[in-house]
Amino acid sequence: MTGNLVSLATLWRNRFLRPGQLEALQLKKLQAVVESARRDVPFYRDLYARAGLPPGMPRTMADLQLLPTVSKVQMRAAGLHTVVSERPGPPPALTFRTSGTTGIPLTIPLSAADFRIRSLIDFRCLLSAGMRPWHRLVTVGPGQTRPVPIHEKLGLFRTNVILGEVHPDRQVELLLKLRPDVLWCYGTELRVLLEMPGHPLKTLRHRFLIVSGSLLDDRLRRMAEQEWGREIFISYGCMETGRIAMECPRHEGLHVNADHMLVEILNNGRPALPGETGEVVLTALNQFNMPFIRYRLGDLAAWTGRPCSCGSTLPLICAPEGRNEDLLRFAGGKSRSPTSFSYALRSSGHLDQYQVVQETLDWIRIRIVPLPTWTTGEQDRLKQQLLASIPAGVRIDFEPVERIETPPGKHRMVISKLPPDAPAGPAPPA
Ligand SMILES: [Zn+2]
Repeated sequence: MTGNLVSLATLWRNRFLRPGQLEALQLKKLQAVVESARRDVPFYRDLYARAGLPPGMPRTMADLQLLPTVSKVQMRAAGLHTVVSERPGPPPALTFRTSGTTGIPLTIPLSAADFRIRSLIDFRCLLSAGMRPWHRLVTVGPGQTRPVPIHEKLGLFRTNVILGEVHPDRQVELLLKLRPDVLWCYGTELRVLLEMPGHPLKTLRHRFLIVSGSLLDDRLRRMAEQEWGREIFISYGCMETGRIAMECPRHEGLHVNADHMLVEILNNGRPALPGETGEVVLTALNQFNMPFIRYRLGDLAAWTGRPCSCGSTLPLICAPEGRNEDLLRFAGGKSRSPTSFSYALRSSGHLDQYQVVQETLDWIRIRIVPLPTWTTGEQDRLKQQLLASIPAGVRIDFEPVERIETPPGKHRMVISKLPPDAPAGPAPPA
C-alpha cells in the first residue's frame, strides 16, 4: 500500500511537469518499451526488422515517426502468441477482451505491474475530478472481477461495479440501494437508464457524473443535467491501453495521461494541427506484457491547442468523436444498451468480427465473420442467449459474410436503421 501511495504521489506531481521534463520522461519510457518489445515480442521484432529500424532507436521523440503504426486487425492476424512477451514470468494478472465497439474482439493479458499502473492512473483521474476517500463510486458498464484492494476493506474509496449486461430494472434497484457519491456510467447504459419511464433514478444524489465509452452528445448531456443537475465529466479510455484522458474540472478539455501513454493525432500520416480532427494513435508507456506501440485505435479526436487554466501541463484534447453507438429499440418504448450483445458476441470465441444491424423494431440481423471453429450449435446457443436479453417477439438472424469494412472512426458495432428518436411502436398487449 505504501508503494502505491508513493507512486500515486509521483503521478500526481507529473500533472505539473515542465514540458521539457515531461518529454524527457516520455522518451525514457518509450525507449524502454520499444527495447523490451523488440527483444521479447515476436510481432514487434519482425515488424522493426522489416522496417529496417536501426538498433537504439528511438533516440529522440521525433524518432517516434520512424516506427511503423500497427492496427488491431494486424495484431489479431499475427496471433496472440506473437503479440505478447516471450519473457518467462507469472501468468497474466488479468485478461481483458476489448469492448465491442469495433466488433473485432482482441484479447489483452496484463501483468500485475501493467494492471497496477492502470489502476493508479484511473485513481488519479477520479481524484482530479473531486473524488474523496469517503465517497462511494459506482460504475455502470463493462467490468471485470478483481480482488478487493486493502483500502476498500478499510472503507476508503469504496467501489461497486454494475455490469452493463445486467437488466436495466436490476441496475436501477442496485443504484437505489448503493446510493453512489460518484456515478461513472458508460454512455449507452446512461441513455437506457435516463430513458426509462417514470425516471426511477431521479432521487440519486451523487456529487458528479462521469461518462465514458461513447460520445456524450448534447441530447444525452441535457437529459443527464435535467435528471440530476450535477457536474459532468467525460472520460476517454480503451481496453487496449487504459485511461487515455479525463475532463478537467475547469472543463476546458480532457487532460491526456501523457506520462502514461503517448497520444498522436494523425491526418493522412502527419500530425494534425490544433482543432483539426484526426485519427488517434496510441503508445502505451507502461505496458510490457502486450505492448501497444503506435497503435491505430480507430477513434477520431482533436487537440484543443490551448494550455489549461488549472495549471496542469498534461495536454488537452477535445471530447473524442466516433464512439456513439446506437441503442437497440423495441416496441413499447423499450430500449437496451448493446452491451449485452457485445458481451455475448465477443465472449463466443468463435467469431472474427461481428456487427449488429437493427432493421426494424422486431428484427435484428447480425453480420458475422466466423472463425473455422464456428458451428450451428454455437449459433443456436448464442441466439438463445441474445433473445433472453431482449423483449419477446423479436427475430434474430445470423448472416455470415467474408469481412466487415472498418474505416477509422466510422465503424459501429451496432447500426440502427430505425429513424433517430422515432417513437417506438404501440406497447404490446400486457
Ligand atoms: Zn485543467
